[in-house]
Amino acid sequence: MKKDVYSVKKLNETTFLIDEMGRDICYLLLGEEKALLIDCTIGTGDLKAVVEEITSLPVILAATHAHTDHLGGAWQFKEAWVHEDDNIFLFRITNSRLYRNKQLSNRMKKSGISSKDLKGRIWNCKWKSFQSEKVFDLGGRKVTAILTPGHSPGSCVFIDDKEKMMFTGDNTCPFLLMKMAKATTLEKWLEGAEKTLALSEEYAPWCAHGDGTQSKEQIAHTIELVKEIMKMHPQNEKKSKKAVHPKNSKGNCVVFDTAKIYE
Ligand SMILES: [Zn+2]
Ligand SMILES: [Zn+2]
Repeated sequence: MKKDVYSVKKLNETTFLIDEMGRDICYLLLGEEKALLIDCTIGTGDLKAVVEEITSLPVILAATHAHTDHLGGAWQFKEAWVHEDDNIFLFRITNSRLYRNKQLSNRMKKSGISSKDLKGRIWNCKWKSFQSEKVFDLGGRKVTAILTPGHSPGSCVFIDDKEKMMFTGDNTCPFLLMKMAKATTLEKWLEGAEKTLALSEEYAPWCAHGDGTQSKEQIAHTIELVKEIMKMHPQNEKKSKKAVHPKNSKGNCVVFDTAKIYE
């Protein structure tokens, strides 16, 4: 299995960003006794070996949410922690090799990555449910998962009390995707996003796509975009349609469902 599909960036002495060919990012946090891997990419290469090169500590795997590009690589691990609202059969299915294959980026395909590189059976990994405010104690470093539903019903933000960082997954990405199976309404998303914004006063945010960097200002801007959508659409439309705000944006934008704005 290939290791070079991953590149590793050291964010500080005990925190590493692992990038899978610019497609998706996961983070490895080291404590004194254990390590926490937050997400595990689609899993086109030997992520486990990459992690073991960084640390010999026992590794806990937990996901910000159960989408394919965050849990696809879970087959390399015995178990994965997933918020109970995402631990449903549908998400198990979408982490199968067939669905992971659909998620390969053009760049990956050009580099010769194919379905052959998505060998593992997701069923080899046991998904364990957690509830909001679950604490992962790594020894001298506590990381707490806080539920912020939206992009998926069980999307969580992981708060790291030692390094004052937080890991937001896809839920407040600059390019926010809300037209997803099982995504919540924008109204519901707003509650979690406001919580995330408040947390970003104290914790530096990192997301799971692009180069991972995001800021308090960007989260505030994404919230503004959603509020603009709500002003433009005083009620849900009867027909579900994909829409983007602002239209033709190449930067920050929200992709949403016109029938899923309000509860
Ligand atoms: Zn996602
Ligand atoms: Zn994602």
